[in-house]
Amino acid sequence: MHLGFRMTTKETDASSVGIDCPQCGKHFPDARARDLRQMLFLFYVVPVFYQAPTLVECPCGASLVSQLRARDLAGLDANSAMRYLSVRIPPVLMTLVLGGIVVCLVPVIGTVWLGVAYWWSRRYSGWIRGLALVLFILSLLPTGIVFFGGAKF
Ligand SMILES: [Zn+2]
Repeated sequence: MHLGFRMTTKETDASSVGIDCPQCGKHFPDARARDLRQMLFLFYVVPVFYQAPTLVECPCGASLVSQLRARDLAGLDANSAMRYLSVRIPPVLMTLVLGGIVVCLVPVIGTVWLGVAYWWSRRYSGWIRGLALVLFILSLLPTGIVFFGGAKF
């Protein structure tokens, strides 16, 4: 499925920080913290979302969002740094799940859309995964009616 999203990312600052990754549970003494400037475009040209997060990337692929800028994280030990870090939900995933509130009513498309959203959200804990699952189950109803509804009569 192709929605025509495009994200531009510019790195404005970076430094090194110690983390205890909540996703893989490992300790990394020199993870890379990056100040970013990001813009999300719909259909490649319409800007729909702007943010300037500071992210710390774990080698396992997890992205942690920081309340502090990279410069202020620099040199913190993992214990202190983890007070300012939490697992980040990508804005495209957020858009997929929130868009799914409407799209779940559309037979077949809703199920595929939310299947993708739920499959992606399994990596994340909390409400985003729960909401994606509930919407996915809801989306099975209109899809089921289309496939099986006519067959009974
Ligand atoms: Zn990790």
